[in-house]
Amino acid sequence: MEDKMARWKGFKHILESVATENPLSYGVIETTQIAFSEDVRRYCEANTCNSYGKNWTCPPGVGTVEECKKRTLSFRHMLVFSSYFALEDSFDFEGMMRAREEFKKVCRQIDAAVQNELDRYLILSNEGCDRCVTCTYPDAPCRMPDKIHPSIEGFGIWVNELAKSAGLAYHHGKDTVTYFGGVLFDEYPNG
Ligand code: SF4
Repeated sequence: MEDKMARWKGFKHILESVATENPLSYGVIETTQIAFSEDVRRYCEANTCNSYGKNWTCPPGVGTVEECKKRTLSFRHMLVFSSYFALEDSFDFEGMMRAREEFKKVCRQIDAAVQNELDRYLILSNEGCDRCVTCTYPDAPCRMPDKIHPSIEGFGIWVNELAKSAGLAYHHGKDTVTYFGGVLFDEYPNG
């Protein structure tokens, strides 16, 4: 356990460099612990977040669940991170959109911070890509294939199970929204 904690320390300064007023939690798991299911795709297909078929980070553009699983398992570990945001009430749609935007910024900051620390990595993030005003999907390739963060749900991953495996809370109570992301990697960064 002590050895594991020591290895996690490498991520401490990375996450401490993220400028956000919201609490950021994290845990590291093995990619073999991640649960994939076609059933998660059913939620994407129901278009609950309005991103299905609209960008390259969501289904069907992101690939089949089997392809996403293979891509995930090509890495050894995942740093699971999450942040939660206060809402005015459960109907606060604008608050949810602001929280999503803020979380996407957090993901981009983590990406910038790990670039020089990890040889090979892939960042996944809740929901679809928000980088371009209008996505090229499906008429032309993505404008920034090296910078996009595929959707965790779009990969067919049960996020509640992911949170449990990483020892993170899936909910933070009434009138809050919690977002999750993950850094897939092979070797731990230096502490
Ligand atoms: S970076 Fe632009 S083109 Fe690529 S998936 Fe995101 S919105 Fe679409």
